[in-house]
Amino acid sequence: MKFCTHCGGSLRHAIPEGDDRLRHICDACGIVHYLNPKVIAGCIPVWEDRVLLCRRAIEPRLGYWTLPAGFMELGETLAEAARREAREEANVEVELGPLYTLFSLPHISQVYAFFRARMLEERFSAGAESLEARLFGEAEIPWDELSFDTVRRSLRLFFTDLRNGGGFVFRMEDIGPDAWKRRGEEIG
Ligand SMILES: [Zn+2]
Repeated sequence: MKFCTHCGGSLRHAIPEGDDRLRHICDACGIVHYLNPKVIAGCIPVWEDRVLLCRRAIEPRLGYWTLPAGFMELGETLAEAARREAREEANVEVELGPLYTLFSLPHISQVYAFFRARMLEERFSAGAESLEARLFGEAEIPWDELSFDTVRRSLRLFFTDLRNGGGFVFRMEDIGPDAWKRRGEEIG
């Protein structure tokens, strides 16, 4: 950030009185611009024992497979955002189940939330941000071509729970910058 979104004045980096960290403060109008983490909402759309993935048509991770998910918009609930992303990325209508995974990624200031979801019919296609959309059974999942650790981890947990009789349990985990290296396949 260089300029104030309120008045166009130039910003300086300083700790406001009574605060304990650096903020962008406008020299002209004095407004403090707080930057806070972003929330990404998504779902695991299921048809029978298969999961719907999309291949990304946009950066980052262009060409990699992902679960439909994206940044929440202002004025939206978490569930509305997850349903909207499924519609936009895979042209699929889903009935959301319970929240299934919640990840904090403090190094990039993001929070990911995935719901379980039931596809209302076996109908889907690639949305504007996807190259293709496809249903995958566990054995077909392109584990080496998944977009993000949060997607990989959610799918690992989902298929493990499914194999163990479908007792799906909500998980909240933290994922660091070196998660992939440190935990290898375990992060899954
Ligand atoms: Zn200003």
